[in-house]
Amino acid sequence: MFLHEKTYDFNELARYNTHMHTTFSHCAKREMKASDIIKAAEKAELEIIALTDHNYPDEHNQVAVQKNILYEQIKDIKTPVKVLIGAELSSYDIGKFADDEVCDNSLDWRLYTTNHFHQGYWVHPEKKTPRAYCEHMLAIMEKVIESGRADAFAHPFMAKYISCFKDFRDVTAAFTDNEIGDIIIKGTEKEITWELNVPAIYGDPDFHRRYFAIGKEVGAVFNIGTDAHKLKDIDTHQFIPDLKRMLD
Ligand SMILES: [Zn+2]
Ligand SMILES: [Zn+2]
Repeated sequence: MFLHEKTYDFNELARYNTHMHTTFSHCAKREMKASDIIKAAEKAELEIIALTDHNYPDEHNQVAVQKNILYEQIKDIKTPVKVLIGAELSSYDIGKFADDEVCDNSLDWRLYTTNHFHQGYWVHPEKKTPRAYCEHMLAIMEKVIESGRADAFAHPFMAKYISCFKDFRDVTAAFTDNEIGDIIIKGTEKEITWELNVPAIYGDPDFHRRYFAIGKEVGAVFNIGTDAHKLKDIDTHQFIPDLKRMLD
């Protein structure tokens, strides 16, 4: 689902923040209550936000249950902010999904991650080389695209959670321009949007400059996701000067 019209103007992109965690995510600060998130988004003059909690392997389909709880918590709040209740879903191996499709489809925003390699249940490629990780990630992404279960990719291509190399950026450097362009085209044909994930960009600006340039060339639809785990990270606008500097 495309939220944005296709735009490469950061001030336009900053109107939406499509990646943040509530207290349902163990890693989020306890201040991340849905009602306070909405207050912070309103103060930041955001038009659309998406709540995207993690799923946990021992809590199969729990994100659908949480969606109903979050909905109850916010349904009486009067706000100009449009709130999508989604999740950061997991495809932890080629063609493997942590939750059922019915669960995914009950969500307003299905943000798929394909690279949470720090999670114990995540499947790694057999060979531990940068190229093997690239091919593995691309194969996972391809199956997610084919499945029609995703609206967006969370921090696509990110290698931060791969710990077997001295520098994880060896992995992102090993993606070819053609691979990046081809997978973006495939995703865009299925109305998948491509995240500009703020912490991922800070951690690997060289790759993300290339990703943004290729994305623009092939007609990607981008969203900014700040991956907020605390209230002060909800406002996208504070990051725009840095994003312009790092990506343009
Ligand atoms: Zn993530
Ligand atoms: Zn996240």
